[in-house]
Amino acid sequence: MTYLTVPISASTPEEALSQVSAAKDAGAQMVELRTDYLENLTVDMFDDMFAKVLRAGIKTIVTCRDSSEGGQNEYSRKLRTQILVRAAGTGADFIDCEYANFAKPDIGKVLKDALKSSKARLILSAHNFKTTFKDIESIYDGMLIAYPDAVPKVVYTAKHINDCFAAFGLLHRKERDAIVLAMGEHGLITRILAKKFGSLVCFACLDEKSATAPGQVSIEQMKKLYRYDSMNSKTQVFGIIGNPVSHSKSPAIHNACFEACNMNKVYVPILLKGDRLEFNRFMENVKERHWLNFGGFSVTIPHKENALAYVSHIGGFAEEQASKIAAVNTLAIGFNDRLSAYNTDYAGAMDALTKTMGIDKAQLEHKPVAVIGAGGVSRAVVAGLVDAGAKVTIYNRTLSRAKKLASEFACHHASMDDIANLDAEIIVNCTSIGMYPDVDNSPVPASVLKKTMVVFDTVYNPAETLLLKQAKKAGAKTVPGVEMFIYQAMEQFEHFTGKKADESVMRAVIKDSL
Ligand code: NAP
Repeated sequence: MTYLTVPISASTPEEALSQVSAAKDAGAQMVELRTDYLENLTVDMFDDMFAKVLRAGIKTIVTCRDSSEGGQNEYSRKLRTQILVRAAGTGADFIDCEYANFAKPDIGKVLKDALKSSKARLILSAHNFKTTFKDIESIYDGMLIAYPDAVPKVVYTAKHINDCFAAFGLLHRKERDAIVLAMGEHGLITRILAKKFGSLVCFACLDEKSATAPGQVSIEQMKKLYRYDSMNSKTQVFGIIGNPVSHSKSPAIHNACFEACNMNKVYVPILLKGDRLEFNRFMENVKERHWLNFGGFSVTIPHKENALAYVSHIGGFAEEQASKIAAVNTLAIGFNDRLSAYNTDYAGAMDALTKTMGIDKAQLEHKPVAVIGAGGVSRAVVAGLVDAGAKVTIYNRTLSRAKKLASEFACHHASMDDIANLDAEIIVNCTSIGMYPDVDNSPVPASVLKKTMVVFDTVYNPAETLLLKQAKKAGAKTVPGVEMFIYQAMEQFEHFTGKKADESVMRAVIKDSL
């Protein structure tokens, strides 16, 4: 059993009671009363408030955290112990005491005595707000030696995604109730996947303001976005690897599609900082732990080339287009852990262009196309257009990159200054110019835009960029980046699941989120 638990971090009993009621309404199964957040805490104040909380009919953890382990107010050891004793005696389901303090006789012995005649269970907790623990296994084992009936709770700060595997490993090997998680932006997946790996508690905040630890996800996100209620130990995991990833719409659309298809799968953001070495280490960590049940990844900046290099290195499969583009945005883990790499930006861009224009790929032959940008997306777009026989000219700020890309794909190149004189039927923006927050800029002067043109902006946030607005004004046909985003995601979904994605679900989610 994993309890979806909301920490109550109020400074007054009235506020605490209102948070408890909001947590219950939001679907929490338990609340953690962080009594150290209450101002001027007394035993009487606690007794009165706790009686009212119990009447709300929700399970409770009572905690009065020591300030040395993240407690909000500095309360005496005596008061902290008294609160836990009162909680144990009056109906708490769990009381939480710091492992380090439990060793002190005026706490440990008093709590042991109080627990003898109580239904409450003891959570022994250890926190590291700075970094990882050197040896979390020995802390966990030590807690069980100190009090064999305890629920060990080990919480540390992940400085990198690769720090999460220690938490998963401990949960995987445990034979009893335990709580193990990593805090901070790098530890996010340990929170989202707490239920999958059988942590006794999955903490989720009511909102950002009432969060009690870095990286806590809101209960609304946990339930709606990550489908907490349907998650179980068999849930297969997918995710988007990148840096940054917090802005990505991929978790929203893939999770919505998993739900629409009634699939026991979840899709999470995976912030992976560092270079190829760190990327490889992450993939090796996943490979060595078959039981994590990862099914595949979307890959974004800056790891698209790292992903291809890794797949080549381990002798996995890379589709021809991905090798030609020299970047992959999709990794699928198949039978016997075989890794396959794809570039769905290629198909996504071509589908967006041809479907919006109402033509098939062959009709792009000999059409003059101006591609602006020479980065990762540009490589996929140029590959698709050249395969279709279009006459491509690449414009880029760094001319040498345009020249290199043009020579790889046997097309033309020019400097950004030449855009003012371009003569093309189709313009494709593959730079980040115009992307939020740079919304008042366009890579193409309005004077260049004509009604005979098709203008495709791969930028999808905002949904209508300045370039698209000006193109529309000039009477040109426009292709928004959202179209490419949806088509590349649909193809990715098929690589992940072997099933067609529900296009209408993806469109609805994107429309909502933009
Ligand atoms: P990238 O590899 O970093 O390439 C960025 C390109 O933009 C380079 O050509 C760069 O020129 C150019 N650039 C950036 N800032 C510029 C500026 N201020 N002035 C002129 N040129 C500038 O990025 P990417 O992966 O190709 O992504 C590019 C854009 O594609 C993203 O911003 C995103 O909006 C869009 N995108 C869309 C989808 C979709 O599905 N619709 C998917 C992925 C990305 P230099 O070579 O001179 O640096």
